Amino acid sequence: WNNAELPATRVILATGHSARDIFYLLHNKKIAIEAKSFAMGVRVEHPQHIIDSIQYHCSGKRNELLPAASYSLVQQVNNRGVYSFCMCPGGFIVPAATANGEVVVNGMSPSRRNNQFANSGIVVELNAAKDFPKYEHFGVLKALQYQKDLERLAFTAGGRTQTAPAQRLTDFVEGRLSVDLNPTSYQPGLKSAPLHALLPKLIGSNLRQGFKAFGEKMKGYYTAEANVVGVESRTSSPVSIPRNENLEHPQIKGLFPCGEGGGYAGGIVSAAMDGERCAEAAAVGL
Ligand SMILES: Cc1cc2nc3c(=O)[nH]c(=O)nc-3n(C[C@H](O)[C@H](O)[C@H](O)COP(=O)(O)OP(=O)(O)OC[C@H]3O[C@@H](n4cnc5c(N)ncnc54)[C@H](O)[C@@H]3O)c2cc1C
Repeated sequence: WNNAELPATRVILATGHSARDIFYLLHNKKIAIEAKSFAMGVRVEHPQHIIDSIQYHCSGKRNELLPAASYSLVQQVNNRGVYSFCMCPGGFIVPAATANGEVVVNGMSPSRRNNQFANSGIVVELNAAKDFPKYEHFGVLKALQYQKDLERLAFTAGGRTQTAPAQRLTDFVEGRLSVDLNPTSYQPGLKSAPLHALLPKLIGSNLRQGFKAFGEKMKGYYTAEANVVGVESRTSSPVSIPRNENLEHPQIKGLFPCGEGGGYAGGIVSAAMDGERCAEAAAVGL
C-alpha cells in the first residue's frame, strides 16, 4: 500500500497525539491546525509499599485482599495546576518515544497490578497562548516544538540512548545531583541527571513546589526512596485540528478529525466515544 492512492469521499483522521508527520502534512498543505494547551512534567516512582502504607495506614505489607493503592493529587502552584496523571499502581514506567533522538516516558499497570513499584506522571499545566514566547516563530507548531525540545533534552541528559534522566525526589526538590538512584521498573535504566536545573523553570520550579505540597497532603510521599524520571511529555496533543458542527474540518468537506490527535479525547474511553461520534457523522447520507 506504500504510496498507493485510495480515493475516498469521507476520511476519519484519527492518528493520535504523536503523529507529528500528519500535523506537518496538514500545516504544509495549509489545512488549518491550532496550537493547543497541554501539560508536561516528569514521572515519579515510589516503592508500592510506601504508597500502600500511606493510603491504607498500615506498616509493612498491605493486607493481601487489598489491591495495590493508588493516589490522585492536585495543587495550584503560581496560578497553574500541578497534578498527577495516569497513576499506575503496581506498574511499570515504559519508554514511549516515537522517533530517534528523544526520550519520553509513560506508565502502565499489568492487570494484576502486582509489580513492586507505583508510578505516576506529575505534570504542569501549560498555556499555548502565553507560555512559549521564545517559540512564537513556530506559529501553530510552537507547543509541538517546545515538546520536541524537551524530549531531545531528556535524550541528551539520559546519555543518548533510551536510558532516562532521573533524580531522587528529594534531590530534585532540594536542587542537588543524586549520587545514586533507587531501583526502578524502567527497563532501559536510569542515569542520574540534574533535572532540577535542566527542565525549563516553568516546569521544574512549579513541579518542585508541587511535590512539596504533595508531601504535606500524603505524609511519607516526599521521600528519597522515590525517583523522578524525565520526561512525561505526551499527556495530550500539542496541536488541535478544528472541526465544525458536522465534525468535519471547516476547510475540507469529508475530513473528520477525530480522537486524541485532533484534541477531542484524553484517554482510551473518550477516544473510542469520539470515534463512534465521527463514524456516525461520516455515515450521514450514505
Ligand atoms: C503506555 C501508555 C499507557 C496508557 N494508559 C492509558 C490508560 O490506562 N488509560 C487511558 O485511558 N489511556 C491510556 N493511554 C492513552 C491512550 O492510549 C490514548 O489516549 C488513546 O489510545 C488515544 O486514542 P486515539 O485513537 O486518538 O489514538 P491512538 O490510539 O494513538 O491511535 C492512533 C493510530 O493511528 C496510527 N497512525 C499514526 N499515524 C498514521 C499514519 N500516518 N497513517 C496511518 N496510521 C497512522 C497509529 O499507528 C495508531 O494506531 C496510554 C498511553 C500509553 C502510551
